Amino acid sequence: MNIHEYQAKAILAEFGVPVPRGALALNVDEAVSAAQTLGGSIWVVKAQIHAGGRGKAGGVRVCKSLHDVRAAAVDLLGSVLVTKQTGEAGKQVNRLYVEEGLNIAAEFYLSLLVDRETEKVAFVVSPAGGMDIEEVAATTPEKILTLAVAGDQVSAGEGRIIADFLGLQESQVEDCADILAKLHQAFCQKDAAMLELNPLILTREGNLVTLDAKFIADDNALYRHPELMALRDHDEEDPREIEASQYGLNYIALDGHIGCMVNGAGLAMATMDIIQLKGDRPANFLDVGGGVTVDTVCEAFKLLFSDGHVKAVLVNIFGGIVRCDVIASGLLEAIKTHPMNVPVVMRLVGTNEEEGRRLVNEAGLDVIWADDLDQAAEFAVAAAKGV
Ligand code: GDP
Ligand code: MN
Repeated sequence: MNIHEYQAKAILAEFGVPVPRGALALNVDEAVSAAQTLGGSIWVVKAQIHAGGRGKAGGVRVCKSLHDVRAAAVDLLGSVLVTKQTGEAGKQVNRLYVEEGLNIAAEFYLSLLVDRETEKVAFVVSPAGGMDIEEVAATTPEKILTLAVAGDQVSAGEGRIIADFLGLQESQVEDCADILAKLHQAFCQKDAAMLELNPLILTREGNLVTLDAKFIADDNALYRHPELMALRDHDEEDPREIEASQYGLNYIALDGHIGCMVNGAGLAMATMDIIQLKGDRPANFLDVGGGVTVDTVCEAFKLLFSDGHVKAVLVNIFGGIVRCDVIASGLLEAIKTHPMNVPVVMRLVGTNEEEGRRLVNEAGLDVIWADDLDQAAEFAVAAAKGV
């Protein structure tokens, strides 16, 4: 789960990591009064969306007067920001974060993640911060250092290695090590999957400050962090995924045309692959799982039928624990309220296969039957094209 920059900074502040003073604003007047309260003569108005690349897209405005702050807020609130990370559709700006402006002397990249190779929490750092780290990695990989934290906390030696790599002065080494230790604590205690400061800056006054922060929570550990769950912003998530999660469906929205209903994650992946192979793309990943009921299958079909992106549905069930008649009954239940407005291709094999087919056929449903996955994918891709 992703959270907003201002929320990530609040977490870092709790652990004593330096962040600029700032305030959240949900409307233009709040933005101006936030700037007034912060004082000073330079403010930065930042669009809060769950995506990076805002600076280049105009979502980060450095303002030199309250008038500028107002203009930036008017401009940004309600607008749709298209950045390198949002995709073409962009993301609507509903929240602004107003911060005191800082004088930047240097921008560094710093992130923490779980390094699978060493099975430790690792820092990834670079003196080339503020920009696209993927580009730095591709063009100047020598500017990136990965350092796995050996013990339970960051040692003084590890702090020094990173400070030296960033090119900090002797007087800043201790400060840097202290921040690294706190970041590491925050990462571990909050069960983060990723924590990224891009940039962490050195101010002209010689202080290290977090200018941008991204925090991704480990979804598997969210159950023990109600305080993180409370930060979930439904506006930032795909409404289809939110609905699916309410029914316990393992669902991920994608941008293709073929709606998929499959049992088992492996089979769902294979189904997605074969759709691509046949020339189209899946509209979603959907694993109905093993312990499905007519109700959950029904909700899953409703989700697919009400999705405007879906041009054809491909049902690929290899019934073991899942019974094919349950799938068929779920479909019959769903069409009572959500008519089958797109072609449905069904590959139903395994437990109660005949019963499943019988239920669908007796209801007079115009589904396209397929004998195997290859054929099913071919039919679905053709049906989506209207062939
Ligand atoms: P991102 O583009 O979504 O990653 O947004 P960032 O928060 O990283 O901001 C992008 C850039 O805006 C930073 O790299 C800085 O160069 C600039 N910026 C952000 N805050 C300030 C500030 O307080 N003062 C100045 N001068 N520049 C800032
Ligand atoms: Mn950034």
